[in-house]
Amino acid sequence: TEQFKGQKILVLGLAKSGYAAAKLLHSLGAEVTVNDASPLENNAEASALLKEGVRVICGGHPTDLLDEDFTVIVKNPGIPYTNSMIQQAIEKKIPIWTEIEVAYQISEAPIVGITGSNGKTTTTTLLYHMLSIGNEKPLIAGNIGTVACSVAQEAKEENVIVLEASSFQLMGVETFRPKIAMITNLYDAHLDYHGNFEAYSQAKAQITAHQIDDDFLIYNADQAPVREIAARSNAIKIPFSVEGKKDYGISADEHEIYWNGEPFISRSVIKLPGKHNLENILSAAAAAILLGCEKSAIIDVLSSFTGVKHRMQFVKELHGRKYYNDSKATNTLATKSALAAFDSPIVLIAGGLDRGHSFEELRPYMDNVKAVVALGETKKRFAEFAQSCGIKSVEEATTMEHAVQLAHDLSSEKDIILLSPASASWDEYASFEVRGDKFIDAVMSL
Ligand code: ADP
Repeated sequence: TEQFKGQKILVLGLAKSGYAAAKLLHSLGAEVTVNDASPLENNAEASALLKEGVRVICGGHPTDLLDEDFTVIVKNPGIPYTNSMIQQAIEKKIPIWTEIEVAYQISEAPIVGITGSNGKTTTTTLLYHMLSIGNEKPLIAGNIGTVACSVAQEAKEENVIVLEASSFQLMGVETFRPKIAMITNLYDAHLDYHGNFEAYSQAKAQITAHQIDDDFLIYNADQAPVREIAARSNAIKIPFSVEGKKDYGISADEHEIYWNGEPFISRSVIKLPGKHNLENILSAAAAAILLGCEKSAIIDVLSSFTGVKHRMQFVKELHGRKYYNDSKATNTLATKSALAAFDSPIVLIAGGLDRGHSFEELRPYMDNVKAVVALGETKKRFAEFAQSCGIKSVEEATTMEHAVQLAHDLSSEKDIILLSPASASWDEYASFEVRGDKFIDAVMSL
C-alpha cells in the first residue's frame, strides 16, 4: 500500500465509488484531487471529502486541470470515454483507471471477479452465500453491498473478495488479476456506451486479461464470443455448459449438475427458476468448489436461495398462484429470460419508462403468457403488442396496486404472476427497487 504515497491522483466523478476511492487514496498518503460536475452545495460526497482535507474542485470540469501532472486518473465508470477531459487525458497518456484497479492493488485477499451481460448480481450473491456457509470468510463487493475500494481496505489474507465487475469498470483496469474470473454470458448490451460488440467484448475480456497460469477462468462455453475470450486467456479454464455437454468442467442437463462429467448435485434441489439462472448456479458452484467449499454448503444454498431481491424474486404463494418480482428487468433481454423460466401459464405485468424501444424481441416468448396487465408510460404500446401476440386478456392499470389486483383477477390456480417490466422504472418510480417494493407491498396486502 506504499505505492500511492505522494502520488498526484485525480478522481473524476464522485458518487459512491469515486468517494470511496478518493478517501482510500487520501488515507494511503496520495495527493488526491477530486473533480465533480455537480456543485458543492448538493454534493454530500464532495463536502465530506473536503472536511477530511482532500482537494475538491466542484461544479464543472476546468479545462486547465490536466495541466497539472497527475500520475493517474481514477474515473467513475459512468463517465464515457468521449468526455473531453478523458480525451485530453488519453492524449497526454495519463493512465485512466476505475476503482476496481485501486481495490485490486491494495487488496491482501484474493479476488473472484464476476462479469457477464446478465446474472452478475445473482452469481455474486450465490457465491457469497456458498462461501459464507462453507466458512470461507467472503466479502461482497459490487452493485449490491459495498464499493470494491472500501471492501479491499478491510480485507485480510484469509478473506476472499467476491466482486461483481461491469464492463464499464473493466475498461479501467491495468493490472487487475482476479484469482478466479467468471464470465456468465455475453449479449449485445450497452452498445450505446461501448460503440460496438467488439469493444464490449474486449472490455469483458479484461476480467481475464492479466491472469496467469495458476488462476482460473470459469466461462460460458455454450456461447461462441465467450469461448473466443477464453481461448486468449492464460488461466486454467473451467468451461461450463447448461446444454448438458458433460465433457465440460461443470455442466447441467435436465436432471443433474455434473462436475468433471460425474453426477454432482440433482437439479431437483434448486429453488431458483429458469435455465438462465442455471448459468449463474454453475458459475457460482464451480468457484465455490475451487475455493474449497463443501458440497453440502452448495446444496444448502441451492435449496434455500430464492433469488436476489427484484431479480426473479419469489415473493409469495397465494390461492395457488406464485408471485415473482423481476423489477430489475429494465430491458427486453431480461424479460425474455424471465418468460423462458416458467412452464406454467404466466400473467405478466409489464411496461414502464418509454425509451421508444421495441418489444418485438419478446414475441417468441409470449406463448406461455395467458394475460397481460400493462402499466407505466409504455402501457398503451405494451397492451397493443400483447394483443398482436394473440393474447385475449389484456388490461391497462393505473397504479401498481391496481395492476396486482387485475393480475390476480385474471389468474387461476397454478399460474405464475410475474412483474417483469421490460422497461426502466423512472417514469413513475425513483428506481427499480422502489418499483419492486411497491409490487411486494401490493402482493402482501392482497
Ligand atoms: P446483472 O447484475 O448482470 O444486471 P442480475 O443478476 O441483477 O444481473 O439480473 C438482472 C436481470 O437479468 C434479472 O431480471 C434476471 O432475471 C435476468 N438474468 C439473471 N441471470 C441471467 C442470465 N444468466 N441470463 C439472462 N438473464 C439473466
